[in-house]
Amino acid sequence: MPELPEVETTVRGLARYLEGERIVRAKVNRPDMRRPFPPDLVQMLTGARVTGLGRRAKFGLVHTDRQQTLVFHLGMSGRWRIDPAHEDRHDHFVIETATHRFALCDPRRFGWVDLVPTDDLAAWPSFAGMGPEPLGDELTVEHLRMALRGRRQAIKLLLLDQRIVAGLGNIYVCEALFRARIDPRKAGGQVSRAALARLVPAIREVLEQSIADGGSTLRDYARPDGELGYFATRFDVYGREGEPCRRADGGTIRRVVQGGRSTWFCPRCQR
Ligand SMILES: [Zn+2]
Repeated sequence: MPELPEVETTVRGLARYLEGERIVRAKVNRPDMRRPFPPDLVQMLTGARVTGLGRRAKFGLVHTDRQQTLVFHLGMSGRWRIDPAHEDRHDHFVIETATHRFALCDPRRFGWVDLVPTDDLAAWPSFAGMGPEPLGDELTVEHLRMALRGRRQAIKLLLLDQRIVAGLGNIYVCEALFRARIDPRKAGGQVSRAALARLVPAIREVLEQSIADGGSTLRDYARPDGELGYFATRFDVYGREGEPCRRADGGTIRRVVQGGRSTWFCPRCQR
């Protein structure tokens, strides 16, 4: 499932070929993905010039000179294929420039796209009320302190709440809590200011390291049939139940279930 680093890598990969280019053709191959395609999608994109790309939480943004922004979510299995050699039956949405072809392929169809007036993006339902970007300057120790104050829910679950921090998924919350040496089961309001001061840079570091891993695979996208969005990265706790802690502190990585999802942590160094 694509997390923030995969989406960021995808956006950077698309930007290489799309930025400044005119969309000469757009096509939908079915009426919907997880949600229906906007009825004016093809008309609004055809002939538009891409002025820039961006990301908000786990959504990719393609801004156009018509003051409309194409918003895409990769769902569980979505990816963009650049210059695919063959059409795939899961290519649901296709755009073309004079030189390249981009297909949004999504076998499970949990992904979706929307078209939003660029000026209205902040009020778009999925973005309204969303917390700060984890890689931006707005995520501060003070923001977390205020957002977590008095909260009895586990810090792990609170960090997955998009109103507190945008775009953090299960994997990177586990990794950041390990790096900051915070017990994921601890009540949010009980996490000390010193621990939060470790957590903010830890969140940035785990995401940036993964984005760097994704970036190092970007050169592969130059080949025909290149696919954006998936790459291997090294995790400290995620999926490592029963294995020794990388801090070599004698701890063994444990898995517990919180809010219906797995959490991995080292009970020795995460307090
Ligand atoms: Zn440990």
